Amino acid sequence: MLKITLATSNPHKVEEINLIAKNYDIEFILPKGEFDPVEDGKNFIENARCKALCASKSGETQFYLADDSGLCCEALNGAPGIYSARYAKTPKERINKLLLAMDKKENRNAKFVCAMVICDREGKFIFETEQTCQGLIMKEEKGTGGFGYDPIFFVTSQNKGMAELSKEEKAQVSHRAKALNKVLEWIKSEKVK
Ligand code: IMP
Repeated sequence: MLKITLATSNPHKVEEINLIAKNYDIEFILPKGEFDPVEDGKNFIENARCKALCASKSGETQFYLADDSGLCCEALNGAPGIYSARYAKTPKERINKLLLAMDKKENRNAKFVCAMVICDREGKFIFETEQTCQGLIMKEEKGTGGFGYDPIFFVTSQNKGMAELSKEEKAQVSHRAKALNKVLEWIKSEKVK
């Protein structure tokens, strides 16, 4: 079984990623010890690189997979974007702040973005992808699943709120699922063992 270190400390992401990759012979493991990357990139890819490099310091596995994700709203010129996790203190406060910022905005178009980067134990970047999930910002929360901004994100392709999807449904359509599928295709095509 191929072991890949997942450069995150977010348990929701680990759970989602393991579900998406369940049919692959890959074990995603969390970084050993403290994982505290400085995310000072200008975009999602650059921030994912910061995380992958930080995780590679452990030298524990051959590959280090990092993701950086966020929500971009057209009417807010792409905000909260790379600042999604830091937009306000708690998940509830982040949702309320975004609903307020979107109040009276006619253009509700938004997208979740997920960048994924793989580096090796020397810190060399060997694969990068950025994928999106298109939707709309709802006027109020709906559903109880998922995490983060899911309760106010309407997934156009599913005609449902992200938090109304089952874990399995989200694993089919999310930005993270699309990015991870590109990673898994790359691993397969490279015949990585
Ligand atoms: P990251 O850990 O730096 O990638 O921060 C991503 C932030 O974007 C999270 O803390 C959430 O606020 C938001 N986010 C990313 N992906 C999702 C998702 O699938 N659902 C809801 N919110 C998300």
